[in-house]
Amino acid sequence: ADGKIISPTPSTDADGADGKQNKRLVYLDSAATSQKPNAVTSALTAYYEHANSNVHRGAHALSREATEQYESARDKVASFINANSRNEIVFTSGATEAINLVATALSNTCGQPPKNARDLYLTKGDEIIITESEHHSNIVPWQMVAERTGAVLKYVPACAATGGFDLDAFTELITPNTKFVSVQHVSNVLGSINPVDEIVEIVRSKAAPGANIMLDACQSVPHMGVDVQKLNVDFIAASGHKMCGPTGIGFLYGKESVLNSLPPYKGGGEMIDEVYMDHSTYAPAPARFEAGTPAIAQAIGLGAAIDYLNKIGIERIHDYEVELADYLRRRLEDVKGVTVLGPPVGTERAALCAFVTEAVHPSDLGTFLDVEGVAIRAGHHCCQPLHRALGYSHSARASLYFYNTKEDVDDFIAVLEDTLKFFGSLGSDAIEEADSD
Ligand code: PMP
Repeated sequence: ADGKIISPTPSTDADGADGKQNKRLVYLDSAATSQKPNAVTSALTAYYEHANSNVHRGAHALSREATEQYESARDKVASFINANSRNEIVFTSGATEAINLVATALSNTCGQPPKNARDLYLTKGDEIIITESEHHSNIVPWQMVAERTGAVLKYVPACAATGGFDLDAFTELITPNTKFVSVQHVSNVLGSINPVDEIVEIVRSKAAPGANIMLDACQSVPHMGVDVQKLNVDFIAASGHKMCGPTGIGFLYGKESVLNSLPPYKGGGEMIDEVYMDHSTYAPAPARFEAGTPAIAQAIGLGAAIDYLNKIGIERIHDYEVELADYLRRRLEDVKGVTVLGPPVGTERAALCAFVTEAVHPSDLGTFLDVEGVAIRAGHHCCQPLHRALGYSHSARASLYFYNTKEDVDDFIAVLEDTLKFFGSLGSDAIEEADSD
C-alpha cells in the first residue's frame, strides 16, 4: 500500500456534471509537480498524530522525536545527492527560496558577516552569468541582486536551432570579473540536459578565483542520479514537491566551507549563536539559514519521498524515463502540424516535451485535453525570455514521471490528434473568431 501513487480525484465537479467523472486521469504535468505516494501522505499524518512538536528547542521527548525525524530527513537528502555532510543541506520552501537565499546572502552586507564573506560578495562591476533559458526563479533574484549591488547580469543566449546550451557563447562571456554563475541542470521547457562538467571546467579556469557555481537542479534531482561531489558545483537548488514530496519544502545544497562563509539571509530564532542589544553572532550552517520554525512535517514528508524513490532506484527511474521520453518525442513528432521544442531526436532529453501546433493556441489545447481527462500544461512555463528567443509566446508541455506509461502517451496522442483534427476542420477564420471572443 505504501507504494501506491495517489491519483487525485478532484472534489469539484464530483457530481460528474462536467462529464469528467468517469474519465481515466492521464497526468502529464509532473514537471510542475509530481503526484505523491501513500508513503508520503502517511508520513505527514504520522508526524502530526505521533510526533508533533517544535524541533531543536524542547527538552521533552516529543520534541526530541520531532527533531530526530527532521534531522534524519536532512540526512536522507544529503545521501540522495551524495553531499559530504548533513551540514551542507539547508531546508527551504523550495528551489525558488534556495536561489533567493544565495542571491540575497551574497549581497547582504549588514550585520557581522563572516571574515572571508567579503571575497564572495557581489559588488559593483562583478559579473553574474545566467542563461536566457532559465526559469524565472533563476533570473529575477539575480536581476534584483544586480540592481541592489551594481553587479552586471549577463545572459548566455539560447542556441537558435535547439534552445540548448551554447558552450562557445558561455566561454566568451566568462571573464576574470565573473563571480557567480547560475544555470539550470535540465530545462523545464526544452528537456535538454546541460553540460555541467564543461561549464564547471570553464568557470574554474576563466572566472575570478573562488567564483561560485549554482545549479538549478529542480528538473534533474527527481529524475536522475545527481552527485554533487562529482559535479563539483558550489550550490544546487531543488524542490521537494517535484520528487514525490509535499509542497512547501525544498533544499539548498552548498559546500560546507562556502555556506559557512555566507552571511545569513533571514534573521530570527535558531539561526543565532548569541544575541546582544547591539549585535548578534550567527550559528554555523545549516541553522544559520533556517530562521524560525521550519516546515517540519514537510521535511519529514520529503524524507519519506526519498525513501520511496530509493526503493525503486533512481537509476531505474532514469532508464525507464529515457525510454518513455523517447517514445513521447517520437509519437509527438509524428502528429501533423506539431513542432516539438528542444534538442533533436537521438539526443538524450529529460522526460518532457514542450510543443506548439499550427492550428491551436496552447491554452485552448490544454483546455480541450483537460475535458478528455488529459492534464498537460500550457503557457510560458515561467520561461518568457526563452519563449521569446524561440519565437513563441507560449507552448504546451507534456511531462512524465516514473508512474506514467506508454498507454498514457498513447491516450494523450489520440486526444491530441482528435483535437487538432477538430480545429483543422474549423478553418482559420473560425479559430480567429473564437480566439477574439
Ligand atoms: N527551476 C526550474 C527549472 C523549475 O522547473 C521550477 C519549477 N517549475 C523552479 C525552478 C521553481 O521551483 P519552485 O516553484 O518549486 O520553487
